[in-house]
Amino acid sequence: MLPAEEKLMTPGIRPLIAGNWKMNGSWRGSRRLADAVRDAAPGLPCDLLVCPPFLHIQPVAATLLGSRVAVGGQDCHHKPHGAHTGDIGAVMLRDAGATHVILGHSERRADHGESNELVARKCEAALAAGLIPLICVGETLAEREAGRATAVVEAQLDGSLPLGFVTSGGIVAYEPVWAIGTGRTPTEEDIAAMHHAMRQALVMAFGPTARTTRLLYGGSVKPSNAEAILALPEVDGALLGGASLVAEDFLAIARAMEAG
Ligand code: PEP
Repeated sequence: MLPAEEKLMTPGIRPLIAGNWKMNGSWRGSRRLADAVRDAAPGLPCDLLVCPPFLHIQPVAATLLGSRVAVGGQDCHHKPHGAHTGDIGAVMLRDAGATHVILGHSERRADHGESNELVARKCEAALAAGLIPLICVGETLAEREAGRATAVVEAQLDGSLPLGFVTSGGIVAYEPVWAIGTGRTPTEEDIAAMHHAMRQALVMAFGPTARTTRLLYGGSVKPSNAEAILALPEVDGALLGGASLVAEDFLAIARAMEAG
């Protein structure tokens, strides 16, 4: 683990622990999970975000109203409204109580063929609706083994982030595809190197304001490895999948932010 002084060199960023609940849970179960997170939030050293399935956003937002826990969607359409069966518009998310939206998650990129260009258009729609976008990027195992991880992530950043992303508080999550839900993580050195490369790419593209863009790490973060990962330079929090479905794990990882 890197010494605490190095961590202090990332100035002006309040860390964020975000949970992507994916297609899990019942209406009642989501409220219970939200209750537990809300009750623990005041003592935590970071901001919190939970992203329930669309149907659960409204009850979860009602539970979290007035708390320090924000609510986000897991995707939105690139158009504001219209004939798009089964889709959800960014304004609808906002209307239901969401303030954030995850875009370009690798499961959407893989399952729904989402390109960088489409992610950028969705991001524009989110910004127009007043939502804060949380954009996911990350390489596959084949790309890492071919030595292309940094190039892939830089190309994703270049193609997925529209103008206005940084000034609107947009968030980036580095999620190696091969680390999601597998129990495998990159080495601490690889995570730190990728976050450094992402910071440089963002500053080159958006200017010095991007020094305060939150860069999250995601992929098999759990209570046992959170402290080491969250202590790395340029790691401003985490995006959690599996661990966000268990209140004790989500909260233990948020507490690790303090130790980190
Ligand atoms: C994710 O899907 O964004 C994720 C980080 O999942 P997990 O934590 O389960 O690896």
